[in-house]
Amino acid sequence: MRRRKTVFVDSDILVIGGGMGGCGATYESRYWGRDLKIVCVEKANIERSGAVAQGLYAINCYMGMQWNENLPEDHVRYARNDLMGLVREDLGYDIARHVDSTVHKFEEWGLPIMRDPKTGRYQREGKWQIMIHGESYKPIVAEAARKAATEVYNRIMVTHLLMDKTRPNRVAGAVGFNVRNGNFYVFRAKAVIVAAGGASHIFKPRAVGEGMGRTWYAPWSSASAYALPILAGAKMTQMENRIVLTRFKDGYGPVGAYFLHLKTYTENAYGENYEPTWYEHTRQLVGNYVDRHPVPTCLRNHALLEEVKAGRGPIRMVTKEAFQDPHKETVGWENFLGMTIGQAVVWASQNIDPKEINPELTTSEPYVMGSHATCSGAWASGPEDCAPAEYRWGYNRMMTVEGLFGAGDTIGGTAHKFSSGSFTEGRIAAKAAVKYVNDLGNDQPQVSEAEYEDLKKTVYKPLENYAVGRNEIVAGTVSPSYLLPIHGLQRLEKIMDEYVGGIGAHYTTNEPLLTRGIELLGMLKEDLAYLGAEDLHQLQRAWELQHRVLASESVTQHTLFRTETRWPGYYYRADHPKLDDKDWHCFTLSRYDRDSGKWEMEKAPVYHIID
Ligand SMILES: Cc1cc2nc3c(=O)[nH]c(=O)nc-3n(C[C@H](O)[C@H](O)[C@H](O)COP(=O)(O)OP(=O)(O)OC[C@H]3O[C@@H](n4cnc5c(N)ncnc54)[C@H](O)[C@@H]3O)c2cc1C
Repeated sequence: MRRRKTVFVDSDILVIGGGMGGCGATYESRYWGRDLKIVCVEKANIERSGAVAQGLYAINCYMGMQWNENLPEDHVRYARNDLMGLVREDLGYDIARHVDSTVHKFEEWGLPIMRDPKTGRYQREGKWQIMIHGESYKPIVAEAARKAATEVYNRIMVTHLLMDKTRPNRVAGAVGFNVRNGNFYVFRAKAVIVAAGGASHIFKPRAVGEGMGRTWYAPWSSASAYALPILAGAKMTQMENRIVLTRFKDGYGPVGAYFLHLKTYTENAYGENYEPTWYEHTRQLVGNYVDRHPVPTCLRNHALLEEVKAGRGPIRMVTKEAFQDPHKETVGWENFLGMTIGQAVVWASQNIDPKEINPELTTSEPYVMGSHATCSGAWASGPEDCAPAEYRWGYNRMMTVEGLFGAGDTIGGTAHKFSSGSFTEGRIAAKAAVKYVNDLGNDQPQVSEAEYEDLKKTVYKPLENYAVGRNEIVAGTVSPSYLLPIHGLQRLEKIMDEYVGGIGAHYTTNEPLLTRGIELLGMLKEDLAYLGAEDLHQLQRAWELQHRVLASESVTQHTLFRTETRWPGYYYRADHPKLDDKDWHCFTLSRYDRDSGKWEMEKAPVYHIID
């Protein structure tokens, strides 16, 4: 095999992933750590990477405290209600109290925020959302991170974390490879902040062969945020809380601005308001959550799903009325052009003019993330002034592994942080990480040469598998001795879809299905040793698949553990169809033992610190 060069990079703080959380962490690390070496490593290029790559049309988390619009406590209540009672209120409060200052920085750095001409305040789209001209949102945020970092390493996919030679539960850095030149990177760091985004493509998407990659969540979000900490032994929380989105069909264009700003509404195929039809039924399942305002996101999906199952689909968004107003028509189109251009293209290609035709809605396949209307992710220590003792074992946003911090989609229990909250959480994690590094004194972590040399062999193994195995085939892609990443991905998506509650199973699963799903995932994991990669691009795909499989296993274990249906509309445990506050008003926690391959599950209490 070709010898690969090893490049060593030393840092005080290593930020993995240069999306919203990572840029926030990089920026704030410099503020508190003027003399520290701050390195950000990103598998794409921070200029246009992550879920915000294409731009956004709204910042979904802004309190507006300068105008007495909302208090942080209000946001905690909102997120708690939307997540059916279960959020880490300490973490959510911590983000909410700081998020406005983040948004003010964005504006100072050049992000155009729309203003209400009458009041001069930021133009609200809804109670928490403000509207932006956000095509260049990510480059603006990335510029701040670039100026703050000692070095930014683009095009390096991080595959594993490195642990301290003498203290096995302490992080010491990370390894990865350059996806362009194939060099192997060993990052030695005193503290690591993981901000590697969420996970798409773990469940089979609606668009497969004909449009694979056309998912709601970014196709490059490959679960590294979960797999890296899981492999290092960090505890995870709420991994069963996968999210399903109601979006415009085929393009996954967002519906928020339509509902909130354009005041459009939905109806079934026969022009009827279907939500009241399912009121009693939903009440039987979840009690008075159905009466809450706003109705939790999952329950709104639930009514739509039931209506479609009853044969009265498709569900349509009534746009014809709103689009008669030229201003609203402009806003409707701009909303896509600044954020999801693909939806405008889909409509154009399918002869859909929303002024003439009410477009169809659909529900997406499930995704795993920690920053939207869902809260899967790592179990993190809370802020010292407001976290209950049980949630506080170290520095703010430190996971259960020493020196390992997280932000954005990585951190669990804190829904509704969105882009601004993820950046804010990066800032919070960075401030704590700087303190951690300063407190280390001479007690600094050391990487083990044996560990990174072993990982180097493991990382490039798929290239070797391919180089050897390709001689056994004459043509085509099917080999007796290796599995291509796309084959592995499709096998994963099929297992998750059929056994863990994807679109093909109407989001429904049960104990026998989950148990079989775990067995099949185990078999898939065995075969991952035979992944074959024909080039560096495929090597990246191979490692993305490894990360997705581990995160999927975590999702499946959590779904099996929680014997209730907490979020109908996101998924259903058919054998436990109701919400069960008596036994399950709690967080689920898992810890993976990478030596034995076993998962330990436990419950953690939910403390309500806001009335
Ligand atoms: C479709 C969609 C629409 C949204 N709409 C809005 C909206 O309108 N308003 C709003 O405020 N928020 C919105 N959000 C939410 C917002 O985008 C996220 O909350 C935010 O981007 C999460 O930040 P993050 O840092 O966790 O992840 P990201 O911003 O996705 O960043 C993760 C980064 O990690 C990198 N990475 C991943 N794996 C590795 C690896 N192994 N090695 C190195 N780098 C890696 C990725 O390339 C990426 O740059 C939306 C999200 C989505 C998906």
